[in-house]
Amino acid sequence: FVFFSSDIEISRAQSPKAVDVLAKEIGLLTDEIEIYGQTKAKVRLSLLERLKDQPDGKYVLVAGITPTPLGEGKSTVTIGLVQALTAHLDINSFACLRQPSQGPTFGVKGGAAGGGYAQVIPMEEFNLHLTGDIHAITAANNLLAAAIDARILHENTQSDKALYNRLVPVVNGVRGFSAIQLARLRRLGINKSDPGTLTEEEVSKFARLDIDPSTITWQRVVDTNDRFLRKITVGQANTEKGFIRQAQFDIAVASEIMAILALTTSLQDMKERLGKMVVANDKKGEPVTAEDLGVTGALAVLMKDAIKPTLMQTLEGTPVFVHAGPFANIAHGNSSVLADKIALKLVGETGFVVTEAGFGADIGMEKFFNIKCRASGLVPSVVVLVATVRALKMHGGGPNVTAGAPLKKEYTEENLQLVADGCCNLQKQIQIAQLFGVPVVVALNVFKTDSVAEVDLVCKIAKQSGAFDAVPCNHWSAGGRGAVKLAQAVEKAARQKNSFKYLYSLELPIVEKIRIIAQKVYGAEDIELSLAAQTQIDRYTRQGFGNLPICMAKTHLSLSHQPERKGVPTGFILPISDVRASIGAGFIYPLVGTVSAVYSTQSLPFLWPSLTGKCISCLCLK
Ligand code: ADP
Repeated sequence: FVFFSSDIEISRAQSPKAVDVLAKEIGLLTDEIEIYGQTKAKVRLSLLERLKDQPDGKYVLVAGITPTPLGEGKSTVTIGLVQALTAHLDINSFACLRQPSQGPTFGVKGGAAGGGYAQVIPMEEFNLHLTGDIHAITAANNLLAAAIDARILHENTQSDKALYNRLVPVVNGVRGFSAIQLARLRRLGINKSDPGTLTEEEVSKFARLDIDPSTITWQRVVDTNDRFLRKITVGQANTEKGFIRQAQFDIAVASEIMAILALTTSLQDMKERLGKMVVANDKKGEPVTAEDLGVTGALAVLMKDAIKPTLMQTLEGTPVFVHAGPFANIAHGNSSVLADKIALKLVGETGFVVTEAGFGADIGMEKFFNIKCRASGLVPSVVVLVATVRALKMHGGGPNVTAGAPLKKEYTEENLQLVADGCCNLQKQIQIAQLFGVPVVVALNVFKTDSVAEVDLVCKIAKQSGAFDAVPCNHWSAGGRGAVKLAQAVEKAARQKNSFKYLYSLELPIVEKIRIIAQKVYGAEDIELSLAAQTQIDRYTRQGFGNLPICMAKTHLSLSHQPERKGVPTGFILPISDVRASIGAGFIYPLVGTVSAVYSTQSLPFLWPSLTGKCISCLCLK
């Protein structure tokens, strides 16, 4: 029997400093924060204007090897590293993390506040509602979903004139077009501003979007992995008779609005992106957008506070921004560009901002570079690649690692052969990071069952495989003190020559971009497109969306599309079953194999109580 303090006990044993004190310490002005309770504050974007001439700090990305279902400690390393940089090396630093989703928080994986002595506190505040961003995203998303179905109903039950009168508002007794409607009229080639002067044909053209219900790609969302909502039928009330259709709920954090929140650079940019979101095609095959539905303003106003990052702190008082959401497998799953940009200004030229990309480097990091860095224009200084002995043993042929079950003896006793065999996955992930021209430091997150010989072996192989350095880390058990060597290695790596580059040019055809990721990153021989995928690619290309980056939706449990294939799978053809587009977020979204956006990969038959020590469904909330 082994006793150790649980994550929640450690979190609660520390008293966080008041958030206004923290804000002052890091140079924020009183009118730049909006305080939520005692330990959280939203930070206003006006800060970026005030600090625009301040040089940026160094930008560090924490990624990982292909993980076990338990997670290998990327969040924990991110937090341990900033704790070490700030409290032990006296270097200004900031962590930028993602707000966890309720699905995993109450599931096998648990929350995302880190763990042990490398945590964001208070953990309950971090893991639960935070400052309401996911609720805002859900509200905006579902408002748009409601607008689509209502529009189809009204267009099919009302005359052109009635529809027109309903759409064009009367203000102070006078009917007039809104700015959005005027813009739509111009897009339709109607250069009139007085609603009374449109011809019958123009009225019809303006009033009807003629949405083809079979092409609707916009789904409702919820932040729970509620499996019974994966396929639903809407429109069953008597008042909607004749408008029944099949639909589904996706997970809120993997929605396009979450991706927009992560990638946007200003309020204006967010509004434009929200307006550009394509929700369906009309009966002529042309895209229908949120702007066409006239809801851009409503969506933007629902998101006006969510766009501000939330300030919190680590156990050792280091500042942390929490913003945007997870799921690098079915979404791009990176924290926000705005949080990173603000943090890079706040730490100053000699400081460090450490952010995290979900799951293995093959998915989270690839999307961070090709999608997020393109959106922000920021250049990363170093990649920290997190590995664990347990995951390497799994890649070397060890038995399945299952959440909730005790680890088998292969994982609790020294086994150098399994470690050596599994290092192929580490080597491949290092090579993937090197494709982007950024120096790599391997952080071996040490568990108490790891032997000294195992730890030494991993570090040796990592260095032989091209890592700039490889160091064992003990931040989970010792806090920042346990990650000082990592912090020193990262600081040194950040001074190395950096030849950062994207993996593909946006000008390439969609199929070519997918093929480059499949072959160079995953190691596939080639790709195979389903008919549906090819049809969608042709449509998006014809509609003018061919120049967007690619956001693959793929399992995170293997470099390939088959979760059971560990190590470095070879000889496989990557099946692309479907392709979607998130035009507002700005990427094309191929679905690989059987993965889907409805959170099936990690869903549970029931909500599961604490398994990882950080899961909070069993907390007695004070
Ligand atoms: P990831 O971000 O890669 O998903 P986390 O940092 O969230 O992983 O860690 C996953 C879980 O493993 C957490 O519950 C954390 O407390 C635990 N953990 C991480 N590192 C260690 C360690 N060195 N020893 C014991 N438990 C750890």
